[in-house]
Amino acid sequence: MKPYSDVAAGMRTIGLLGGMSWESTVPYYRIINETVKEALGGLHSAKIVLVSVDFEPIERMQHADEWEETAKILAAEARSVERGGAQCLVLCTNTMHKVASEIQKAIDIPLLHIATATGRAVTSAGLAKVGLLGTKFTMEETFYRQQLENDYALDVMIPTEPDRNTVHRIIYDELCLGIIHESSREAFNQVLASLVGSGAEGVILGCTEISMLVRHEDSAVPLFDTAELHAKYAARWALQEDS
Ligand code: GLU
Repeated sequence: MKPYSDVAAGMRTIGLLGGMSWESTVPYYRIINETVKEALGGLHSAKIVLVSVDFEPIERMQHADEWEETAKILAAEARSVERGGAQCLVLCTNTMHKVASEIQKAIDIPLLHIATATGRAVTSAGLAKVGLLGTKFTMEETFYRQQLENDYALDVMIPTEPDRNTVHRIIYDELCLGIIHESSREAFNQVLASLVGSGAEGVILGCTEISMLVRHEDSAVPLFDTAELHAKYAARWALQEDS
C-alpha cells in the first residue's frame, strides 16, 4: 500500500477559522468535502485544520466597535491554524473580513478572501449590478463592497436603512442561533424583491448564514451564496485547480 503522504500529497491542507457562527461553519466543512469527493472519487476527503472560536465575545466586540481587539484574537487563532499544518486560511464569515489584512499580516500562509470567490462568480455569470445582503457592517462599510467595486467593476446596491436593520437583526437574533422563522423568510424575500425592483440583476448573500433562510426558487434573479462560493474556492485551491 502507498504511504498516506504519497496518496494525499497532491492535495493541500485547508485551514478554516470558523465559529462565526458555527451554524455556517458546518456547511463549509460539508461543501469542501463534497467538492473534493466529486473531484477525486472513492473515499477521498479534504485535509482540513479547523479552529472554531466562541462567537459571543466576538459579537459583543463587533457591536462595541472594538475591531482592533477582534483582529488580535483572530490573528492569534489564525496562527494556531497555521501551526496545525494548514496551507491556506479560510475565514468563514464575511463580516470579519473587516480585519482580514491584520490577520494576513500575522500568518505566512495565504488568506483566501471571500470577496474574491464572490466577485469571480458574479463576473462569470455576466452580471454588473448586484444587490448585497449581509450584516450592517458588511452592507454599510467599505471593506467588502470596495473590493467588489474596484477589483470586479461591480455596481453594488444595498437595501434601504429600515431593510438593512431588519436583515441585520434577523442574522444575529435568529440565523446565528439556528432559528428559522417563516415571517423572516418573507421579510428577506421582500428586501430581495425591492433590490430587484431597483435594478439588481443578482443578489449576493453576503453573510454566511443567509442561505439557511433564503431559497433560490424564491428569487427572480440569481443568488450568490458566499459560504458556498468560498468553500468551493477553498476546495479547488486545495486540489490545485485554483490559485
Ligand atoms: N457569518 C456572518 C457573516 O458572514 C455574520 C456573523 C459575523 O458577524 O461574523 O458576515
